[in-house]
Amino acid sequence: MSEGETPLARRLRRLIAAHGPISLAEYMQACLADPEHGYYARRETIGIEGDFITAPEISQIFGELIGIWCVETWRRLGRPSPFALVEAGPGRGTLMRDCLRAAAIDRGFCDAARVVLVETSSAMREHQTGMLEHAITTGVTVSWTANLDNLPVMPVILLANEFLDALPFRQYVKRGPLWHEAGIGTGSQEGGDRFERQLLAANADPSILPSGAADEPDGAVFEHAPAREAAIRQMASYLIAHGGAALIIDYGHTISGFGDTFQAVAGHRHADPFERPGEQDLTSHVDFARLGEAARAEGIANCRFATQGEFLLAMGLLERAGALGADMDAEGRNAISEAVERLAGPKAMGTLFKVMGFSHPPLDLPGLGGGTG
Ligand code: SAH
Repeated sequence: MSEGETPLARRLRRLIAAHGPISLAEYMQACLADPEHGYYARRETIGIEGDFITAPEISQIFGELIGIWCVETWRRLGRPSPFALVEAGPGRGTLMRDCLRAAAIDRGFCDAARVVLVETSSAMREHQTGMLEHAITTGVTVSWTANLDNLPVMPVILLANEFLDALPFRQYVKRGPLWHEAGIGTGSQEGGDRFERQLLAANADPSILPSGAADEPDGAVFEHAPAREAAIRQMASYLIAHGGAALIIDYGHTISGFGDTFQAVAGHRHADPFERPGEQDLTSHVDFARLGEAARAEGIANCRFATQGEFLLAMGLLERAGALGADMDAEGRNAISEAVERLAGPKAMGTLFKVMGFSHPPLDLPGLGGGTG
């Protein structure tokens, strides 16, 4: 046992000693979601003081543009009243706060909205309550649920920013003609007390592999996230039953491929995902191609994709930034241009982050005029 080991590391070590290596999905679930020692049970994870910054924390404009998206989508859906405005994985609650502030341009939207936050962590729920205090005092109803199973029975507008990357995924590593599932064991190297990647007995079902798998070299990695696809299927079947639209934003790719994207972030730096379990954020890139297939398999006819940059520009990022900066001094305007660059610039989040929108009935969704999928 290492000195200074986290409580979760001790537990995982005992588990591995008793049962052998565990899958990456089990490891990630324990590290992020353990109610006592998991990463999301902590208070300060997101924001300048925390470990990582998300788009709504970079600028209020992000949440405001999503608020405009929601109002316009609600109008195109025929102004259902009441409807559920659901956010999965709301973090500090910043996106929903800014979204509701911008949506106040349409009184009917605010009166009809029943805000539902899908959140497992009680520490995060506390943050969200504080952040939405103003909206609650103006009469907006806000409730919480731990998962997507029991959303209210009504039309829905569903938002998820950097939610899916936090759900567990699996990795497969090519050895000869087979793809072996990668797991986590305790090390054979130096002292043998480190967690490290080890191959499990299970092989990938060939039907999950993208085309070209046979041509990949030994050691190639393929990632598959059934939990993320299941979440999209659940959202899609809910939309089909009650009507509505979903907007999913995350980092990832729109063509399935190969590569190891397992990452840990702590204190705004990349870290080793096998170290300090429960104390670092663990994620991987989201495979939007698979999510699109999952939505279509549930019967969704229109699924649209854009890069975050394309989406935000189409939603009026530059106009909103100009309006916000108009009354500011040079320093304020500079801060806004930097935020715009971070959110939409190709070297920052603009290209790596993707936006996926889908609805039922099929609608022309705001900001997603581009490629169909
Ligand atoms: N959307 C936020 C936060 C992203 S972090 C933002 O953009 O800033 C991921 C969020 O999802 C956290 O609030 C975390 O507590 C929550 N979360 C993680 N796993 C979850 C799960 N299985 N079900 C519901 N919420 C989850």
